[in-house]
Amino acid sequence: MSNHPENEPVLGYAPRSSERVALQVELNRQMNEVVEIPCIINGERVFTGTTTTQVIPHKHGHIIANVHLAGKDEIAAACDAAINAQSDWIDMGLEARCAIFEKCADLLAGNWRMKVNAATMLNQSKTCFQAEIDSACELIDFWRFNCHYAREFHGLYQPLVSPKGVQNSTEIRPLEGFVLAITPFNFSSIAANLPSAPAIVGCTAVWKPSRNSYHSNYVLMELMMEAGLPPGVINFVPSSGPDISDVCLSNAEFAGVHFTGSTAVFQGLWQRIGQALPEMKSYPRIVGETGGKDFVVAHPNCDEQGLLVALLRGAFEYQGQKCSAASRAYVPTSVWNRISSPLCEEVKKIKMGDVCDFTNFMSAVIDQRAFDKITGYINRAKENPDCEIIVGGGSDDSVGWYIEPTIIVSSNPKSESMIEEIFGPVLTVYVYDDADFEATLQLCDESSPYALTGSIFATDEGDIDTAFNALRFTAGNFYINDKPTGAAVAQQPFGGARASGTNDKAGGPLNLLRWISPRSVKHTIDIPHDWEYAFMSED
Ligand code: NAD
Repeated sequence: MSNHPENEPVLGYAPRSSERVALQVELNRQMNEVVEIPCIINGERVFTGTTTTQVIPHKHGHIIANVHLAGKDEIAAACDAAINAQSDWIDMGLEARCAIFEKCADLLAGNWRMKVNAATMLNQSKTCFQAEIDSACELIDFWRFNCHYAREFHGLYQPLVSPKGVQNSTEIRPLEGFVLAITPFNFSSIAANLPSAPAIVGCTAVWKPSRNSYHSNYVLMELMMEAGLPPGVINFVPSSGPDISDVCLSNAEFAGVHFTGSTAVFQGLWQRIGQALPEMKSYPRIVGETGGKDFVVAHPNCDEQGLLVALLRGAFEYQGQKCSAASRAYVPTSVWNRISSPLCEEVKKIKMGDVCDFTNFMSAVIDQRAFDKITGYINRAKENPDCEIIVGGGSDDSVGWYIEPTIIVSSNPKSESMIEEIFGPVLTVYVYDDADFEATLQLCDESSPYALTGSIFATDEGDIDTAFNALRFTAGNFYINDKPTGAAVAQQPFGGARASGTNDKAGGPLNLLRWISPRSVKHTIDIPHDWEYAFMSED
């Protein structure tokens, strides 16, 4: 038996399977209730009375929750609760902390699975499969593997040498103060992981969830409390971004930020932290995974059917709202002449609609703002003489925020949809001359500020090597003959560099190391009793 956890198996939800029946029952139940969501501060449910509604993106007239928002006073109370809880949390020790998060994983793998998946499906418009790989499997893996990695490095980082009369050791301390976890809407797993990864190694956290995933995130907060998370260790505060920044970044005990979201918000946070430094007790750790403009480069000798499937799944699963979604492709003329029609035919077969209808492959985008932003890109492409929309291009926000899977062919490799993050179901293709493979790799490297994920399709090892070297800094997660999405914990630790983040690889030991601040301890057994050194004697 291996001494590490295994990845949680993905359930298939085939017709008449027991998991499908259970999920449908839970979806029906959640469709018929409106949850009152409080803040959770120091383990207490706080109903502030200042509320906002949470709607279902694919049926935006349907309210699933009323959410009580934290104002500045509640955020300040959450910071205090986290600070006050830290000493006991450290004293519990690593094993007891891991036992709680491993219990979280077991609950999620068991009785809580359908509740969490249904909440993610309704709140974020994910199909059952997209919810299963996110809110169940990835989060179970985050919890189990992070505990495993934390145990491993607590033993690893001990001093190599203790000379006679001395015992050297390293105490793996957490950061002093509280960690601010600011989380994105698109992955429930990331939302729960950002406060809990630092907590495993002894930090305490203030968790600001996204306004578009309060419902699913609250279910996960409840799960952690059920697993025995002590009061104050993670404080759940739905609130506005500016309020969170104002209160947390001016608190001297602010120890660091664990962020996933857009590049612009992260850069703003970093600047504010820089300005606040003179008031801080410590230098805060800044960990952020941000946007992407993820690519697929095809070589003339590639597997064309494999490329077609990777483009379709990579660009359109979860409506393209993955930071890793394929959103630009560089395809040689010969290949494009053969695959463009079949690709469009397959895209036209994609069924889009309510996630409760399991035959749908896609659903709605997250909110009106996203709908307006994405359709803006599509409409500008329609006007742009360099661009042609070869499939899709339609949208309808009357019932839900639906946007058709859309492919734009651009003759300009620097047109806006080739270089900017759109975060929706839009793929832009640049068709290059078959002879220009190497120049195209350079173009791919230079065209966008992001460097998150990307893939190369080629069959010849030499061509793969050429791309591997040319694209070294173009992606933090690099795929060969596969779509650029779907990284698995403990298999492909995730994160990108350049404008895509600090590349601290969520779900791996490197991320956990950012939340510790070791203390080196020298324990002298043979205590010197003579202050004079040998060199000082006269002969
Ligand atoms: P977003 O940046 O709009 O929001 C992220 C979080 O920041 C939310 O909780 C939001 O409320 C908060 N926020 C916004 N303004 C703030 C402010 N001024 N101060 C403090 N907090 C503030 O991103 P989103 O729409 O939730 O998620 C989509 C983005 O996240 C995309 O750019 C995507 O690429 C990125 N993402 C990256 C990864 C990754 O691992 N690299 C993973 C998932 C999502």
